[in-house]
Amino acid sequence: MSESPGMSKSRPFVIDFGFKVFLPSLATAVGISLLILHIFDNVFRQTDLIDNAYARRGAQAVVRSLRDGMNHLVDDNARSDEAMLHTQIAFDPGWLVDNWGIDDKQTFYDATFIIDSDGKTVFASTREDPTDLGRQDIRTYAGDAVLSMLASLPGPGGRFAKTAAILDTKGRFMVVGAGVIVPRFDEMKASRARQYRLVFAKVLTPDVLGQLSRQFYLDNLHFAVSRQPSTDSIALANPLGQVVGRLAWTDHSPGTELRIKFSDVVWALVMLFLGVVGALVYIGWRGFKQAHESREEAISASPRDDLTGLPNRRELMNVLIERLSSVRAKAAGLAVVYADLDGFKEVNDAYGHEVGDQLLKSAAAGFAFLAEGMDLVARLGGDEFAIIVSGPEYRERSRRLAANMIEFLVEPMVFGGRVASVSVSVGIVDVETDKIDVEEVLRRADVAMYAAKTAGRNRVHVYDALLDAKRDENRAIAHELRSAIDQHMLGVVYQPIVDARSRRMVGVEALVRWPKESPRHCPPDLFIPVAEEFGLIEDLGRLVLTEACRQAVGWPDIFVSVNVSPIQFMNPNFAEIVERTLHATGLAAGRLEIEVTEGFVIDNASRASAIIDRLHEMRVSVALDDFGTGYSSIGHLRRFHFDKLKLDRSMVVDILHQPSALRLVQGTVAMADALGLRVTAEGIEDENQVSVLRLAGCSLFQGYLFSKPVDARDIQAFLDQDRRAATATG
Ligand code: C2E
Ligand code: CA
Ligand code: CA
Repeated sequence: MSESPGMSKSRPFVIDFGFKVFLPSLATAVGISLLILHIFDNVFRQTDLIDNAYARRGAQAVVRSLRDGMNHLVDDNARSDEAMLHTQIAFDPGWLVDNWGIDDKQTFYDATFIIDSDGKTVFASTREDPTDLGRQDIRTYAGDAVLSMLASLPGPGGRFAKTAAILDTKGRFMVVGAGVIVPRFDEMKASRARQYRLVFAKVLTPDVLGQLSRQFYLDNLHFAVSRQPSTDSIALANPLGQVVGRLAWTDHSPGTELRIKFSDVVWALVMLFLGVVGALVYIGWRGFKQAHESREEAISASPRDDLTGLPNRRELMNVLIERLSSVRAKAAGLAVVYADLDGFKEVNDAYGHEVGDQLLKSAAAGFAFLAEGMDLVARLGGDEFAIIVSGPEYRERSRRLAANMIEFLVEPMVFGGRVASVSVSVGIVDVETDKIDVEEVLRRADVAMYAAKTAGRNRVHVYDALLDAKRDENRAIAHELRSAIDQHMLGVVYQPIVDARSRRMVGVEALVRWPKESPRHCPPDLFIPVAEEFGLIEDLGRLVLTEACRQAVGWPDIFVSVNVSPIQFMNPNFAEIVERTLHATGLAAGRLEIEVTEGFVIDNASRASAIIDRLHEMRVSVALDDFGTGYSSIGHLRRFHFDKLKLDRSMVVDILHQPSALRLVQGTVAMADALGLRVTAEGIEDENQVSVLRLAGCSLFQGYLFSKPVDARDIQAFLDQDRRAATATG
């Protein structure tokens, strides 16, 4: 059975939804989520930047306040009449020590220097050496840069001036202020030739920095000698413009802290948002599906099939329900004819959907014509049709209709130069009671149609209860077979094939056996078709082939013949499977024979021909099995290069009673001879058959007269016996 194009609509629907709703929603949701994350990220980053900017300004304020403080100090002390008096007018170290000397009470500065206009230190008092009094040079204390500070001050006679800067000496940072000592009120006449400068220095110890830290809300203020710029420090330059180090602090990064603190919240927010979007999409999906379903319903509510214009399954069901109810009322039965095209899929695959559709239309038109006057002709979908036949003589009319349908498809149809050939398998169910419902009627019709298919297609089968039983039985067999295959429980027996003249065993045929352990007794005639139907035949066949080859390795003088089902033979890898098996078991290819039946080579002529040639290349021989049951066409013998012909048992049985059968056998053997084929006669049960068939020219015999199929061990015993007889006579 096969579907016509456009029958499945669920996939496009899902794709439709995907493109129209799902993907846009997904894109929007992801976009907005990324936007939210981006905004938060920006806020956090900005917060960090703003905080950093504040800290930087704070650090600059620290430097400024240090310099300003020092400037004030210098201003207060250097602009003083008294200072003027005790330096320029009458230099008085005692006064200087009392006023500017460093002692424990002095916290504003850590060193005082008085420098004369020649740059000479005339007074010095430092925290380390409070009474130095001029022996120490200011350069040693404050570094070279202090000289340029002093140089920036005006010379003698100038006005008041001051300057302050941050300097370092060997990693020690200090704020230094310098100012010219001048009278506060300009009444004091002083020598203009000389001039003194007052210098204060305050060392910026960790304590001092700690205080500043608290005052300016900067964490861990400290000096870094490194000159590398960084975000958490500012450069300090001396009066020469040289960077002497950096004032650094520990960055807060409140944004980063916030980011850590709120990351869960942000993610929760994003998840919540995605959840809401998901819910909306789901609601959308429901709505979409509903709309789709109602559209589908509208389509399926239509009583007709689009392609053929015939009533569809729904309509058939409706009409059938109605007819079933009148079965009792009118005490009149009805029949349902259920048809499925054979080989439709192949036509579709080979020629495309267009030809397939045309074929369906033609078949539909033909069936409708043949069923003229009947209740209803419907297309159930794919290549299935059903016809309701009621009224007088519904049985005879349904049978005749089925026969006509088969007849109608005998002639191949031509579509645009392409020849499409299909047949039809028909199941018929008769309904005489209203005790069964529509589903059951259709199920039975389907079972009957299926029986027609498995019986070989292109035929009619009428439903009866045994069919159901048989179906169940087959299912059970298939089930057991599956596990028998998996557990390697199947047996293989061997039937000797003997030379017509010497009666010596020259070969064996391998025959599969149902497991001995099973309570069921099941001959291969029964389970081989089940294996074919349920897809088990390839595994089964491979098992038998391997086992037969494995055994035959131990019987060097005879050939082994293995039955191969058409399904196996049709497998494109069949020749390879054979080759691999030979390789794995070590059997010489020349000792293997494959038995195929005629039915297969007719259906797949070119394929069969290729496979047979391929086997020949490998030196494997091929026998045509069961000759005389089917078509038994001499033409086939000529077309395919078989090595051997096996006359079916039915022919062998008939020769003793029917002269025509004998003539047929004689003719066949003569023809085979002419084509160079050897002939094996199967099913020989008595000596009369032997003499007649020998005369007719058969060269090999197989049958119960010589031996039934036996275990491998018995074949070995036969071989040993033959060898003894040979040595005795020889
Ligand atoms: P077949 O290939 O025609 O095998 C010959 C059948 O005839 C065997 O039945 C054999 O036991 C039976 N037979 C042989 N000599 C006589 C005789 O003198 N009198 C009578 N009455 N019967 C005789 P078996 O083993 O039951 O096999 C039946 C069929 O099952 C085979 O027919 C073959 O078509 C199929 N078959 C058996 N084994 C395999 C297998 O491994 N693979 C496939 N695909 N089919 C197999
Ligand atoms: Ca056979
Ligand atoms: Ca046979």
